[in-house]
Amino acid sequence: MKELLLIRYGEIALKGKNISVFQKKFTKNIKKAVANIEEVSVIDNYGRVYVEHLKEDFDRVVSAVTKVFGVVSVSPAIRVDNDIEKIKLAALEEVRRLMVEEGAKTFKIETRRTNKGFPYKTPEINQMVGGFVNQSIEELKVDVNNPDILLTLEIRNHTFMFSKRIKGLGGMPYGSAGKGMLLLSGGIDSPVAGYLMARRGLELGAVHFHSYPFTSERALEKVIDLAKKLTDYTINIKIHSINILEIQKAISEHCPSEEMTIISRVFMMKIAEKIATKMDCKCLITGENLGQVASQTMEGLTVTNSLVAMPVLRPLIAYDKVEIIEIAKQIDTFDISILPYEDCCTVFLPKRVVTKPRLEKIEASIALLDVEGLIERAIELQEVIIVSEGEVLELKSE
Ligand code: ATP
Ligand code: MG
Repeated sequence: MKELLLIRYGEIALKGKNISVFQKKFTKNIKKAVANIEEVSVIDNYGRVYVEHLKEDFDRVVSAVTKVFGVVSVSPAIRVDNDIEKIKLAALEEVRRLMVEEGAKTFKIETRRTNKGFPYKTPEINQMVGGFVNQSIEELKVDVNNPDILLTLEIRNHTFMFSKRIKGLGGMPYGSAGKGMLLLSGGIDSPVAGYLMARRGLELGAVHFHSYPFTSERALEKVIDLAKKLTDYTINIKIHSINILEIQKAISEHCPSEEMTIISRVFMMKIAEKIATKMDCKCLITGENLGQVASQTMEGLTVTNSLVAMPVLRPLIAYDKVEIIEIAKQIDTFDISILPYEDCCTVFLPKRVVTKPRLEKIEASIALLDVEGLIERAIELQEVIIVSEGEVLELKSE
């Protein structure tokens, strides 16, 4: 008899011909998630993935596995040989344990037999195992409608036995949809946007813009702390940290002051797009949300959209702030995001901002600047920070 954690995935199963690519990625991601836990092994047994583990580390295994995208639910389970006598005894022991631990008084056995070579049919197995357990424990009753213990037997090349389901995050295996470049500010929204797209299978890179020395070192540390939280799900994130002070100065010198915010945003998008292309990313991801702030009107979004060629994914576009905050709390980024360090956007904040910018007008203003030169210099001076499993792995200029 072996103790293990059964893992269920959802949508991957709908992938038709590509299923094996998705399954491989999924199993690999589970392996990565438990790589630091001693003496666990991940087994992929004909579409049934499970982790064999030591009992002591059980909570750690559950917590690591339920953070892997694609996992719909997990069940602590035991595995026994396909021998009806062994199955009966294991079921009895399992029900006894649950009675003690949870004060259960009623039970039901439910069988799924995918192994058609097993000599008994499903109703027979239910009856044999259920009857045996029922006779062996006097104070226990069968309840087919609402049992305290629903013990499921899954008969494959072994028999798996479980009674609990712990929910996972769902989604698609991380990296199965290619790469995306997240514009990561220190705010509440962008980490949530990154999380949501990562959950759909996009591998994340990140670009952060600052205006050092107008913005402090702490502002960058805040972004690194946010990225650390995201590595709970992504394992690694490479942050490209870009100083846009020179660009902001140029805008404030040559362009109408009320266009500062929107033009800065255009530069951010263009720089992010350049880096994304170099890093083999197929899209940009932002935390933009319709109507949240002055720059996030349909007109504002139209301008930023029109000036980059790469698709810009805005997973939060239709969310209410309270919904975004709920996810931020769930992924533990909220408390970091609300720390009061200045954002580069606040440095040159004009008294009045255009809320309905017109593309032609913004393009005319931008034409007054040496766009390519400014972008190239900013990228040349970038710093790259690699965050891995909650730690800064490397800090270098590139
Ligand atoms: P957030 O909470 O993510 O900062 P926000 O509500 O403050 O968003 P804006 O400041 O208008 O909204 O930014 C919209 C989006 O633009 C952000 O979600 C982020 O993707 C990107 N962005 C803004 N500032 C920066 C920055 N300094 N570095 C990287 N990306 C940024
Ligand atoms: Mg912001």
